[in-house]
Amino acid sequence: MPYSPAAGQRIIEVPVPVRKMQSVEEPEGVFECRLCGLRAPYSYHGQKPPNACSVVLLEECYTMNDPFTPQKDRFLILGSHCCLCNNAVCVGQDCSLFYAKRFCIPCVKEHIDKFPEEIQLDLQKKKQQQNLQASR
Ligand SMILES: [Zn+2]
Ligand SMILES: [Zn+2]
Repeated sequence: MPYSPAAGQRIIEVPVPVRKMQSVEEPEGVFECRLCGLRAPYSYHGQKPPNACSVVLLEECYTMNDPFTPQKDRFLILGSHCCLCNNAVCVGQDCSLFYAKRFCIPCVKEHIDKFPEEIQLDLQKKKQQQNLQASR
């Protein structure tokens, strides 16, 4: 079956278990999202992924080589740590958002009045979308 992401699907689809891929460094560890439980081996944690020499990330992320492309400079961002509670969270929109820093959604909700209106609206929109999906 061809890989066809449906609308609203998570950006990161990690095949589990990950098959042994040629010429991939041993994973440094396993990233696990505290919120949705997404687990995936990561090959790098930091701001400058190896092989992607021109890329500097805005935050320290857990990354892995993109298994969907043979290009070595392509990588996936799995997640990062919430700057408030320090929980590891994936970059899925249900789990975290990036606003200057990484925030997990529970922390965003807790401090929603400190975020600008656009973030508040965004979160409301997401909630409505979730309700729509749930009622289908
Ligand atoms: Zn997650
Ligand atoms: Zn948090």
